[in-house]
Amino acid sequence: MTAHAPITAASGCSEPVVQRQRGQHAVFCGLTGIIWMHRKIQDAFFLVVGSRTCAHLIQSAAGVMIFAEPRFATAIIEERDLAGLADAHEELDRVVDQLLSRRPDIRLLFLVGSCPSEVIKLDLSRAAQRLDKRFNPDCRVLSYSGSGIETTFTQGEDAALAAMVPSLPAKAADSPASLLIVGALADVVEDQFRRIFADLGIVNVAFFPPRRSTDLPAIGPGTRMLLAQPFLAETARLLEARGAERLAAPFPLGVEGTSAWLGAAAAAFGIGQAAFDAATAAPRERAARAMERYRPQLAGKSIFFFPDSQLEAPLARFLANEAGMRIVEVGMPYLHRQHMAPDMGLLPAGTLITEGADVDQQLDRCRAARPDLVVCGLGLANPLEAEGLNTKWSIELVFTPIQGYEQAGDLAELFVRPFNRKQRLSVQLPAKAATHQAAAPTGGASCS
Ligand code: SF4
Repeated sequence: MTAHAPITAASGCSEPVVQRQRGQHAVFCGLTGIIWMHRKIQDAFFLVVGSRTCAHLIQSAAGVMIFAEPRFATAIIEERDLAGLADAHEELDRVVDQLLSRRPDIRLLFLVGSCPSEVIKLDLSRAAQRLDKRFNPDCRVLSYSGSGIETTFTQGEDAALAAMVPSLPAKAADSPASLLIVGALADVVEDQFRRIFADLGIVNVAFFPPRRSTDLPAIGPGTRMLLAQPFLAETARLLEARGAERLAAPFPLGVEGTSAWLGAAAAAFGIGQAAFDAATAAPRERAARAMERYRPQLAGKSIFFFPDSQLEAPLARFLANEAGMRIVEVGMPYLHRQHMAPDMGLLPAGTLITEGADVDQQLDRCRAARPDLVVCGLGLANPLEAEGLNTKWSIELVFTPIQGYEQAGDLAELFVRPFNRKQRLSVQLPAKAATHQAAAPTGGASCS
């Protein structure tokens, strides 16, 4: 094990303090992205090539209605595949044949790699190329890795979108400037942003990923892109390589983040302040009113982020500046300094940001600080609840529509819920039983 110097927040510094360690980055399985991606791209299918464990993860996390035609499945690697007794490529071709003959509505098939497929070195990119030759143009076949060996769970979306970038058509040199919003957003959020962009006079707007896999936006010089999610490092890199220009902006969480994010697009398209104010005044006002309800319940409370979703810095900025919370530490699995710079610049002076922190040392700092709320992955939530700390699952912040003005109040309310839950538990249970419950390391207590 490597010994690290203890991390402490510097005082009197006007910038956030960034400390880097080489702790664990693999905080949850990248297959998780399928749960929100399959809802977003409505004619896509995600075929995980993995084990029964992968199938259980996806099925229990996403939930499947038995009468619905699901848009994800697992091609299970059996023992004879692992033992080399069967040709995994032949088996995969057979499964894909069956699937696409039964489901002609599928227009985009993702072969999704997993830990087991990587361990047996099954080359899914080769399989995807072979199958794409057979089924394109009726169905495109792409591949990416959702393996949990070395990933954060949000990297699954980055890998899926990065796999789609080479399919995007080239933008004609004489076509007008366009705006590309990158990152899966709930349809309701996408519709709200589309209306605001129209009110601003920005009409040439596309969202990536699209709702239908065939509605692919053209990319090239003249494409200005706004990242809607902070975990799309590889996708952004590939889009920039195709000539897209990234607009630097904080992520659209809360009133401040949404205004600055929309403002970056307005500035890039030469829209003046008066037009911007006219287009955003009403939703800004609604968001500010929604925040008034929750701010008193959060103001002054301390919060500690363990690294998980990569949303930590924008969330901390929102909670500090708009909800009045006190940030103890912002742990991030990876810190993309360019993409994060606008949010980091808005964090309170001296905020401690840790990248890839050693988890044991971070737990010690958390226990010493006794924050009012801890945002963390599922693996840490229940043990911390058992120690009497109030927790919030960070994965819930990825599943829930939280971007934009109309969701600012909902986002704040997500952080109020653990406090309400604790209060309800302490009211419902006699004092002795409540103490016992807080001390018992049981599952489910942190589902807020
Ligand atoms: S991909 Fe790996 S981490 Fe994810 S469910 Fe499968 S075995 Fe587990």
